Amino acid sequence: MMTDLRELYQEVIIDHGRRPRNFGILTDANYHEEGFNPLCGDKILLYIKENNSVLEKLQFEGVGCAISMASASLLTETLQGKTVNEALEIFTDFSQFITDKIFSDRLGKLAILGGVTQFPARVKCATLAWHTLKAILDKNKKNSKIDLTRSAESHILSMLEKDKKSIGFRLSIKKTGCSGFAYVPTLIEKVTPTDIYFKTQNGLKVYIDCDILAFVSGLLIDYKDDEANLNIKQKRLFFINPHEKNRCGCGESFTIE
Ligand code: ZN
Repeated sequence: MMTDLRELYQEVIIDHGRRPRNFGILTDANYHEEGFNPLCGDKILLYIKENNSVLEKLQFEGVGCAISMASASLLTETLQGKTVNEALEIFTDFSQFITDKIFSDRLGKLAILGGVTQFPARVKCATLAWHTLKAILDKNKKNSKIDLTRSAESHILSMLEKDKKSIGFRLSIKKTGCSGFAYVPTLIEKVTPTDIYFKTQNGLKVYIDCDILAFVSGLLIDYKDDEANLNIKQKRLFFINPHEKNRCGCGESFTIE
């Protein structure tokens, strides 16, 4: 690399390290994750506001060396407005670039960080923000696996319309005496700190406690006639869970493999 180009790259890293972009708490984030690099002492907290699989806002806080801060700063700039899938592709490209020096056009400005490939000790500084991002994207993937049919979505939206105080729909799980767990759908007026949410196509906010994500991954929520009670002709919500093992006779509770 020509000397003046290398100097320019260094200047950009120093500039981003000193005046990181998108720095500070993102109060309306639906994801946040902490990353720590014990080799250098770099620490970051990455915040993402994701909506319909688009990374609408990214911000971070942290302390660390110029490379770790510049890398986090460039990450927030590069991924603004990208979809979750695009972000995953850029993560893969960036990892290959830093560890195997394979360059991809998608990297754009991130090429500036290529200099660390000559300093193996600094690779962890450059990739810290990216591994933190990956942890968030993995969480998001699990989260987005819950699906609602059109009829379930419009049923819940119309309930919300009637109940002006509620801000969204929350799905939780409770232990029941019968044979294990039961789903508890409710309308909520405020969010619990451990809640994460996702938005459906028509803007319904579905809140889930992050502790139960593993239980509800792959879940489909439907709203249809209760076939066991056809004489009353009443519709209700159905929860179709691919991980369900046993359903008790009354149909209320289930266990998970
Ligand atoms: Zn560092």
